[in-house]
Amino acid sequence: METAFVLAWIEETAQRVAAARDRLTELDAAIGDADHGANLDRGFSEVRRALAESVPATPGEALTATGATLIRKVGGASGPLYGSFFRSMGKALQEGAGFPEAFAAGVVAVERLGKAAAGDKTMIDALAPASKALAAAVHEGLEPAEAFERAARAAADGAKATIPLRARRGRASYLGERSIGHEDPGAASSALIVAALGKAAPSW
Ligand code: ADP
Ligand code: MG
Repeated sequence: METAFVLAWIEETAQRVAAARDRLTELDAAIGDADHGANLDRGFSEVRRALAESVPATPGEALTATGATLIRKVGGASGPLYGSFFRSMGKALQEGAGFPEAFAAGVVAVERLGKAAAGDKTMIDALAPASKALAAAVHEGLEPAEAFERAARAAADGAKATIPLRARRGRASYLGERSIGHEDPGAASSALIVAALGKAAPSW
């Protein structure tokens, strides 16, 4: 896997986050505090700046820098959570893991930090199915482009499937029953991050 691939993924994510800023904020207005779009847009703008200032030499370095920047610059629950996701992915790549294994390590890091499981109506509901789809696609011997497409579909389906759920983690959980009937903003942004993979030059 090439550094250019990871940088293209992050750049595509930054663009999609900026374009979806208002939608993410609206989702967060319904069951949170209306800052998710702004949090992520600011975070990925800072990531862009950091990666331009100090150009990473390896894919692992690019992702650890992305994660560290998100942790430093994003307030709210999603900063440390996405920060851990990217940083753990980067570490796994640096330790020799392939992309799908590294993605899985990122998901585990989010689960540990947030103490969230599938069905809790969080970003995990998009990230975990994406990780499973990626692993299954690799197992079937599919090319990266097709594997990423399947992961994107799994993440999007997972995000939509949070609508009827009651939130058990994060700010939305304070709403209890009233969190039902809304898509989780973090699951929506995770679907967008996974979809961005398909636009980066596909290679493992
Ligand atoms: P905040 O809730 O602090 O305002 P954001 O609005 O940026 O932070 O992010 C909210 C999103 O973070 C939620 O929609 C959810 O997906 C995710 N989230 C919150 N708490 C957790 C948690 N404990 N585990 C996993 N994801 C979480
Ligand atoms: Mg919020």
